[in-house]
Amino acid sequence: MTNGRLIVLTGPSGVGKGTLVRSLLQRHSQLYLSVSVTTRSPREGEIEGKHYYFVSRTKFVQMVEAGELLEWAEFAGNFYGTPIESVKQGIQEGKLVVLEIELEGARQIRDTFPEAVRIFILPPSWDELERRLRSRGQDSEDAIARRLQRAKEEIDAAGEFDFQVINDDLQGTLERLESVLFVPVS
Ligand code: 5GP
Repeated sequence: MTNGRLIVLTGPSGVGKGTLVRSLLQRHSQLYLSVSVTTRSPREGEIEGKHYYFVSRTKFVQMVEAGELLEWAEFAGNFYGTPIESVKQGIQEGKLVVLEIELEGARQIRDTFPEAVRIFILPPSWDELERRLRSRGQDSEDAIARRLQRAKEEIDAAGEFDFQVINDDLQGTLERLESVLFVPVS
């Protein structure tokens, strides 16, 4: 018996995916968040194995060549990828395995794992997205500019996803996500 499923959450940098995922994990024990591998340097407060597995470019390329990643992409100058093993295991254990990933990775999942449910998180407005990205205070001006450019491309692709959810107020957005995630499977 397994009701395990793969859930892909995508949306522009700064849209609030991290907060939404953390709230969902607190509320639902059957959710499992896949921890990605990245070549990006840790931000202040980020913990190895919890937020990401931080690896060198050489190690990342080795993982790609060994077929250890379910999907991977380059984003704003760094590589990011999903380790395949823990995803498989979570699904076998009947969990809802959540990937919080960018557009290129979500497209790969559509091709390799078509039964995955893919959700795009939209900001209430472009100005609000820019404000949120800057208010994090975590990235340089250059990194913010690259993320905003990429955000435009990602938002243009929102229609490719199974569901689009606008992150306006946290509570309402969580409820809309829950109605997508916990729809009874026939
Ligand atoms: P950040 O550097 O802000 O943590 O993440 C940058 C972007 O990379 C975000 O859009 C995030 O969703 C995405 N990302 C994180 N992990 C993965 C992954 O394993 N694969 C892909 N394709 N994107 C990821």
